Amino acid sequence: MVDTATMAKLLERFAQGVAAHDRENPDHNSWGIGMAHFDIERLGLEEGEEILPGIVLQADGGGTGNFRVLCDGQHDGAGEMEDEEVVDAVASEEVGEPVYVDGPAEPIRPPL
Ligand SMILES: [Zn+2]
Repeated sequence: MVDTATMAKLLERFAQGVAAHDRENPDHNSWGIGMAHFDIERLGLEEGEEILPGIVLQADGGGTGNFRVLCDGQHDGAGEMEDEEVVDAVASEEVGEPVYVDGPAEPIRPPL
């Protein structure tokens, strides 16, 4: 689960990716964001949720660490595009998160 600011940043990148796709491919209709299931899980998102207006999050079996703009048009190659190396960048900001452990804290003993 990421914090609200991180999520806002991520959504902004999704919106930019979709906007860039639509600008370059005005005859395509983008309908989703494709992400690896692993990334959806670690970001605390849900597959099938409408993450932006008219844009649904899909687990697409693609690589982790980025997202794809999903559309009804054809692209050279995989049929999807806009690989954005953004998920790792956003998710890695979580590395500094403190880890909480159940149970009483160990008393700190002075060295002998
Ligand atoms: Zn397209």
